[in-house]
Amino acid sequence: MSSETASLPVIDLRSDTVTRPTPAMLAAMFAASVGDDVYDEDPTVRRLEEMTAARFGLEAGLFCPSGTMTNQIAIKAHTEPLSEVICEQTAHVYLWEVGGIAFHSGASVALLPGNRGRLTAAQVEAAIRPENVHYPTTRLVCLENTHNRGGGTCYSLEDLAAISSVAKRYGIARHLDGARIFNALVATGQRSEDYGQLFDSISVCLSKGLGTPVGSVLLGSADFIRKCKRIRKVMGGGWRQAGYLAAAGIYALENNVSRLADDHRRAARLADVLRQQPYVAEVLAPETNLVIFRLHDSHPAADFLTTLERQGIRASSFGPQWIRFVTHLDVDDAMLARIEAALGMVGE
Ligand SMILES: *Cc1c(COP(=O)(O)O)cnc(C)c1O
Repeated sequence: MSSETASLPVIDLRSDTVTRPTPAMLAAMFAASVGDDVYDEDPTVRRLEEMTAARFGLEAGLFCPSGTMTNQIAIKAHTEPLSEVICEQTAHVYLWEVGGIAFHSGASVALLPGNRGRLTAAQVEAAIRPENVHYPTTRLVCLENTHNRGGGTCYSLEDLAAISSVAKRYGIARHLDGARIFNALVATGQRSEDYGQLFDSISVCLSKGLGTPVGSVLLGSADFIRKCKRIRKVMGGGWRQAGYLAAAGIYALENNVSRLADDHRRAARLADVLRQQPYVAEVLAPETNLVIFRLHDSHPAADFLTTLERQGIRASSFGPQWIRFVTHLDVDDAMLARIEAALGMVGE
């Protein structure tokens, strides 16, 4: 960092996971009633699980340490070895979960190319395996909303319903990786209650943009969640007085959802500013809080990141020329102005 920016707070655009709990959230955590959740005795965990399930029109919830764990538990519960999962080729469950589908579930994966991460019902139907001794058995379709690698893109309810009905017709389970589902709901105006009809299971992250230090909730039927609880245990995810963390989740659901619109507004503004820069070749139109853009070949991503870092701004590269900016709870309008100024100086 240069001397003039050394006293300013670092602006961290690498991910919406980097947020720190606010004093109000910490106060809610300190005040939580807790018990041993492995014995089903933590009232705050139970409340978080129940309120999240009700919000999405599903019966039950399971609070877990991460979205990777909720996704991988769900996939394991829906599949068995010799079966197959259909997902988009850059889906988080496939690309960024350490090959967990092979490791935990011994299942095969059918990868489909999406439109910025989104699949169509026709694509899903064409990927369903016919009965044949040579093929794995298609058991699960896994969608991601918003889609991370696609740049925070949202599905329409119509497209979700079409995929859901294809899966139902073939007797295939439907899982939603909803790490950023609240971003999708806020951006589209869709109702969370409608999602319970569309999916057998949903993974919801509380640590992405909602500002909690840790935690995701897996949602499904009561029977499904009972099965998932055993899988969480074998993964070492049975936790004890987790109510302190669940309290942060409850606080986030009650206070930090509608403000995601501010993150979306700031992302749209950053995209506008980026489009004006001569060194930017392409900006994927943001729909939520992720801005993915490509630099001209004369500007390697690594150099660009170093230049920003000198201004106290951190971001991630998504390939040799690609960068991702993520807006979140800890990026305000004063920081936005600093980012705009820094972007204007890159070419100089
Ligand atoms: C972040 C993320 C997850 C889960 O990540 P964890 O870091 O394990 O909580 C899952 N899916 C998507 C799309 C994500 O962006």
